[in-house]
Amino acid sequence: MSAQVINGKEIVSAYRAEIKEHVEALKSKGVQPGLAVVIVGDDPASHVYVRNKAKACEEAGMHSEVYKLPENTPEQELLDLIEKLNGDSAIHGILVQSPLPKHISEERVVEAIAVDKDADCFHPVNVGNLMIGKEGPAPCTPAGVIEILKKVGVEIAGKHAVVIGRSNIVGKPMAILLLREHATVTVVHSRTKNLEEITRQADILVAAVGKPKMVKREHVKPGAVVIDVGINRLEDTGKLAGDVDFDDVLDTASYITPVPGCVGPMTITMLLKNTLESAERAAGVKVTV
Ligand code: NDP
Repeated sequence: MSAQVINGKEIVSAYRAEIKEHVEALKSKGVQPGLAVVIVGDDPASHVYVRNKAKACEEAGMHSEVYKLPENTPEQELLDLIEKLNGDSAIHGILVQSPLPKHISEERVVEAIAVDKDADCFHPVNVGNLMIGKEGPAPCTPAGVIEILKKVGVEIAGKHAVVIGRSNIVGKPMAILLLREHATVTVVHSRTKNLEEITRQADILVAAVGKPKMVKREHVKPGAVVIDVGINRLEDTGKLAGDVDFDDVLDTASYITPVPGCVGPMTITMLLKNTLESAERAAGVKVTV
């Protein structure tokens, strides 16, 4: 039987409509959530991501600021801008788009962002809070994956979830969030032996590898839920592909996410959520809709 393709568009638009209602409610109390996105350099894909983030922000009724800095911007200039945004009461979330040019330290930049404005949840303090389950932002991509699973009605508790990839922005926090939802979690990576044997045990398989169409039918247990985080540009056609070979896996999985159109837009939705919640915390009000 063919898997159900998760309707990312529908989930995302319903979620964003909910966020918009919350934003309106907060605005009626005199607070407009604001997100500042900073981009350094000319990477075309990054510029597309930044445009999409700013557009989503405006559509949700939030205040949006985009700072486009040239490739040769000195690190100190970027740090000064972050400091200014840290002190700006109209801004509740700050995001510096990666990758940054080589002469700028991602670590110094991430650590310069105020902990309570860290919309991406990359600051070590927020990463630590996530680890111990303290209230605060969760990294957007893995948080979006959890929301997708919940919206589809996939039970996570007690399930075996296997995450392929252990990056700081996707794989590791994905494992923590799945653990928080009471899954039994295994993380596999480039040094894992017998990868297929392990992924085939997964009830929920999350691929965050960066290798187009790497996950084939033989990696997937019949009936598994397959979440594809990967966004890869194919060299031959220029089209986008996930880390999962969608056509090959379609008849084996029970649910599968399409690429593009599911985890990507949900990631941006979580960015809006983090910014909204950070505005609520700053204002000391929690709106319910
Ligand atoms: P990284 O390159 O930082 O990490 C990739 C991970 O995959 C590493 O842990 C690596 O292992 C592992 N890996 C690489 N090759 C293999 C292999 N052959 N078998 C098993 N594991 C392997 O990537 P990211 O985590 O940043 O991103 C992963 C994918 O997700 C990319 O396609 C990226 O574009 C996409 N992405 C999508 C987002 C969205 O909004 N939808 C947001 C962020 C990323 P090791 O640690 O051993 O090197």
